[in-house]
Amino acid sequence: MNTNFTIVAKTAQCIRCGKEFTFGVYAVLNSNGPKICPDCGNTHNQEAQSTQKKKAARSRAVTAEIPNEYLHYIAEKDPYNTLNAIMQQSKWNLYLVGSYQAGKSHCAGYAAYCLLENETIFNAHFIQVPSWLRETGRLMASAPDEAALRIQRATKCDLLILDDIGKEKLTERTGETLFEIFDKRLQQGKRIWVTSNYDGRGLAEKLGYDLGNAIRARMLKHEFKMIQVKGGVELK
Ligand SMILES: [Zn+2]
Repeated sequence: MNTNFTIVAKTAQCIRCGKEFTFGVYAVLNSNGPKICPDCGNTHNQEAQSTQKKKAARSRAVTAEIPNEYLHYIAEKDPYNTLNAIMQQSKWNLYLVGSYQAGKSHCAGYAAYCLLENETIFNAHFIQVPSWLRETGRLMASAPDEAALRIQRATKCDLLILDDIGKEKLTERTGETLFEIFDKRLQQGKRIWVTSNYDGRGLAEKLGYDLGNAIRARMLKHEFKMIQVKGGVELK
């Protein structure tokens, strides 16, 4: 039992702000006393935590393969506030449609990075659809295990961004792969953000009758929120 416990208040000068502050007996017992006042101590911890968080988010963004140039955001280049529109609806499946270089991919990538930073999600995957499907199709023939891993990863991550869907005509096999990923994720309630130059009908045409209509039907059924991206965001 503590019977002879007394609190001794002492004063010291903070090495950060120079202010005199009072501290109690614990600090005296453990060391020569604290060197930083409680105010500066709190700020210091918060700064350290936020640096830590940013570092963690960066490394998750690298793992997610979000292109490096999308990890920056300049508000003046987003006059229609697309980022805000995405963030407000970030829990939903999204369909970002707008003309070439309107900034859809940039905003989608940066929004995903924000979610990784505020730890809403931990695991995203940014896929540039045409090249990803081409490579996956190639691997299906030469290294099927590797192709299966790629598909598994796209199917299981917290947030999948399918960038530039409809840009290229797909082969039957890559079209099926795309649909399978799409369908499995939606069945499991896993989010997909799509960016495209085409609206739903245009996309259906672009992807070919069967695949295009199947994907469009899934988007309608699973209530994809459409965001029209009017443009302004430029790549640095
Ligand atoms: Zn201080």
